[in-house]
Amino acid sequence: MADFRHIEEQLRELKEAGRYRPMTVWKDGSDAWMTVEGGKRALQMSSNNYLGFTHHPKLKAAAIAATEKYGVGSGSVRTITGTLSIHDELEWKLAAFKGTEAALVFQSGFTTNQGVLGTILGPDDVVISDELNHASIIDGIRLTKASRRIFAHKDMNQLEAVLKECGSYRQRVVVTDGVFSMDGDIAPLPAIVELAEKYDALVYVDDAHASGVLGKHGKGSTDHFGLHGRVHFQIGTLSKAVGAVGGYVATARAAKELMINSARSFLFSTSLPPSVAASCIAALEVLQEEPELTERLWRNADGFRRRLQALGFDTGESETPIIPIIVGQPERALAFSKRLLEEGVCAQGIVYPTVAMDKGRVRLIVTAQHSEADLRFAADVLENVGKEFGLV
Ligand code: PMP
Repeated sequence: MADFRHIEEQLRELKEAGRYRPMTVWKDGSDAWMTVEGGKRALQMSSNNYLGFTHHPKLKAAAIAATEKYGVGSGSVRTITGTLSIHDELEWKLAAFKGTEAALVFQSGFTTNQGVLGTILGPDDVVISDELNHASIIDGIRLTKASRRIFAHKDMNQLEAVLKECGSYRQRVVVTDGVFSMDGDIAPLPAIVELAEKYDALVYVDDAHASGVLGKHGKGSTDHFGLHGRVHFQIGTLSKAVGAVGGYVATARAAKELMINSARSFLFSTSLPPSVAASCIAALEVLQEEPELTERLWRNADGFRRRLQALGFDTGESETPIIPIIVGQPERALAFSKRLLEEGVCAQGIVYPTVAMDKGRVRLIVTAQHSEADLRFAADVLENVGKEFGLV
């Protein structure tokens, strides 16, 4: 009889390589301070809840009201009976938020990339992708028969060289994260757009970590750089700054219509619960009404990054609320993260294969929920544990 020995072997290899990642169980919701099993409290610096929207009273009230009105689930995929008026309303509001003709909502940011890339890329096309793009982009590209070219991270000379060689394809699609999720740096979107226009390429930006963060009222990297009308696909997630779950693409009406008919992750998966759609609509309203949340996020992030740099930490290329501390080999990064949690700071260790083998790190995410006292506490803990590891 077959057994699990090959699976157990893989697990053992992972542990021996120092790359095994345990999963912490938290007893409460995503907040500035959270409780680990056993009752220990830790300052949360690994959550994507940039603006504290998971607990915003307006979002919670909207979810409860929508549940009362529509029930807890939508009962079907979107194209059968799963498009409720609240999904339609959310899509119109997302299109207005992003300044595009249309938007289409998926069940997650991950499945958005799979669905959109899987639809727009055919065997006669070429996709040109930044080497540090998110795993969901990489997997989305793998689903297609398009030719693939990778350019070195943010290297515009290399991007141009590749574009020059790709003139004979039916479509060229340049794909980039807006904010890179492991380094917290911002894509050089103006340069990408200029090159794309010069070489007749479509531009695809994954703004998972830029929506609610960059641009006026958190409209994302296209707005941040004033590139409205020049980016063909703006991907967003509803699971990070927006506080709930889901993903979307903001694009042209024709692209939306094609995806409704062809995007497999859209077509074959039940639509978001009405409560989620309602919370997301409320989130878009709060982004308009409470700009002080985004301002506070940036004040916290910039101040904290400066503090870490003054202590002597290597924060890499960070220029957003995502702030890595580069540690080195995987086991060292995971040990650093573990010690920080013991001292009351949750900073997730990120190691190979998510980042390069010698670029293991802890990734800190500053949010608008952190008080000055929280950030002072975090900096003190980081300084002390950093000394133990010879990082400062
Ligand atoms: N794109 C990027 C750049 C991300 O960081 C993430 C989240 N890890 C995703 C897409 C996937 O989003 P979601 O969590 O909504 O599936």
